[in-house]
Amino acid sequence: TTREDVRNVAIIAHVDHGKTTLVDELLKQSGVFRANQEVQERVMDSNDIERERGITILSKNTAVYYKGTKINIIDTPGHADFGGEVERVLKMVDGVILVVDAFEGAMPQTKFVLKKALELDLSVIVCINKIDRPEARPDEVIDEVLELLMDLDASDEQLDCPFLYASAKMGHAVLDLNDTPKDMTPLFETILKYIPAPTGDPEAGTQLLISTIDYNEYVGRIGVGKVENGTIRVNQDVMLVNHHDLTKKKKVKVSKLYEFDGLKKVEVTEAGIGSIVAVSGIPDIHIGDTLCGDLDNPVSIPFQKISEPTISMNFIVNDSPLAGKEGKYVTSRHLRDRLMRELNTDVSLRVEETDSADCFKVSGRGELHLSVLIENMRREGYEFAVSKAEVIYKEDERGRKLEPMEIAYVDVPDEFSGTVIQLLSERKGELHGMSRASDGSTRLEFEIPARGLIGFRGIFMTSTKGTGILNTEFEDYAPYKGDIEYRKQGSLIAFEAGESVTYGLYSAQERGTLFIGPGEKVYAGMVIGQNGKAEDIELNVCKTKHLTNTRTSSSDEALRLTPPRILSLEQALDFIDKDELLEVTPVSLRIRKKELD
Ligand code: GDP
Repeated sequence: TTREDVRNVAIIAHVDHGKTTLVDELLKQSGVFRANQEVQERVMDSNDIERERGITILSKNTAVYYKGTKINIIDTPGHADFGGEVERVLKMVDGVILVVDAFEGAMPQTKFVLKKALELDLSVIVCINKIDRPEARPDEVIDEVLELLMDLDASDEQLDCPFLYASAKMGHAVLDLNDTPKDMTPLFETILKYIPAPTGDPEAGTQLLISTIDYNEYVGRIGVGKVENGTIRVNQDVMLVNHHDLTKKKKVKVSKLYEFDGLKKVEVTEAGIGSIVAVSGIPDIHIGDTLCGDLDNPVSIPFQKISEPTISMNFIVNDSPLAGKEGKYVTSRHLRDRLMRELNTDVSLRVEETDSADCFKVSGRGELHLSVLIENMRREGYEFAVSKAEVIYKEDERGRKLEPMEIAYVDVPDEFSGTVIQLLSERKGELHGMSRASDGSTRLEFEIPARGLIGFRGIFMTSTKGTGILNTEFEDYAPYKGDIEYRKQGSLIAFEAGESVTYGLYSAQERGTLFIGPGEKVYAGMVIGQNGKAEDIELNVCKTKHLTNTRTSSSDEALRLTPPRILSLEQALDFIDKDELLEVTPVSLRIRKKELD
């Protein structure tokens, strides 16, 4: 059966291409919505980090009504797939709206999500936005989008998708540039016409797949998903089953049920096939669980397994005087609580206690995943130190060491492609594809061990003078590719920051610095040298009095201020009080000991 009065659609857009403005406008112009009441608070716009990094991290739901049809609009994560999140979100919808800036054109960051949408056979509507911009070049952008769709193996139907020209800002869209723009009606109509209505069997036992988890202090965990079959009702007993963990089966009661309306969740008593609902009152609900109405014979819905973390880092309570000066004092309980809270909504994150009460091992999907969390927490005022990221190794049945491999997609102006190829090849990257775009940039595709990408982003940005775009995607575990030999080894910098002396390790490989303050705490950590062997390290030592900033960037600053002197290892170690160095936190202690042995 088809649910004609519902459409489920996801929006895919590069940051700043106008997704929020467009959704605001759909809200405003949809019948039910009372203008200006709620739009002030721009829903889809998540956080600052997304904007800065050009990625979308969170997924949010909105719903509008048009001609009696409910249109659920779901935001998609724009970048790296943090543990199958993209697939989960897209599984709720039957089509996507691809929003593309009429001047900038399609950006590579949207490629990942679009590719997944095409693979899931979803219908596509392309919305060329910002056509009011004087520099708009809609026709060229349409060609680019078509090229992209072909690159991503879109089906014939998907290639035959409708194109709209919109100005979200002015509140209108047209199907033909010669049409007189009026409002968003053409977009609403296109959604109704091109996005298939959801289907399912209303007579079958209830089946609801939980795609995302919301968390609310008052009601706890809230599962969000689409009703695949049957009807779900308040107070209904359902069986909670998980496709990947059949032992989990458990009978639970639906205590509250919500649907999305505008920007709000509204309580409902029941919901049928195709409805996107939120369910509360089930504390043990998890992503990937199916709520089954047939208690005797519950059938779980198959689902991509939640991906395992591939990289970990230690988060350490930072109470060294150096850090204490600028930040708030954070206790281990604060840090622990905050990390545990994150686990409520982020399934691909793992948090483990360590031997030290002040140190937590946090594992996630790649460096970007963890650095987004770190930045979010720092913005919330948490001051803490982190160790260098380390990849998580595994073993196969034959005992071979396996390591996580990533695909790195690089877009750079032609002049930098040589440098990038060299840098990534050094890191055991294998060039799998290279193509030249019409705008004079080169697209490179590498397969590379995840460890080769740790700390690489900074080097990449420096070497491409900030013009490069780097996207990475986890591929799979593969046999260990051998040690990476970096051209230049590590350097050691010691400099004075204010009254206190700070030692930093600097390496060509990572441009990060390990700051060891007088309180012997690691501020930001990294390993120097190759294979942790001290003899391999070429040491540069410099000293400056001008530094007050103790952030990572100050190592570059230090180098700039005082040209480094090359010293022998003995000379360099003389420069530093060895005892002091060996008494740092467990993380750096391990690193240092290995280095100095
Ligand atoms: P998002 O990051 O994709 O959600 O983008 P926003 O909706 O926040 O829009 C980013 C910027 O583009 C904002 O400054 C908007 O005012 C502007 N913008 C959005 N739509 C249009 C449009 O149709 N025309 C023009 N000229 N600017 C737009």
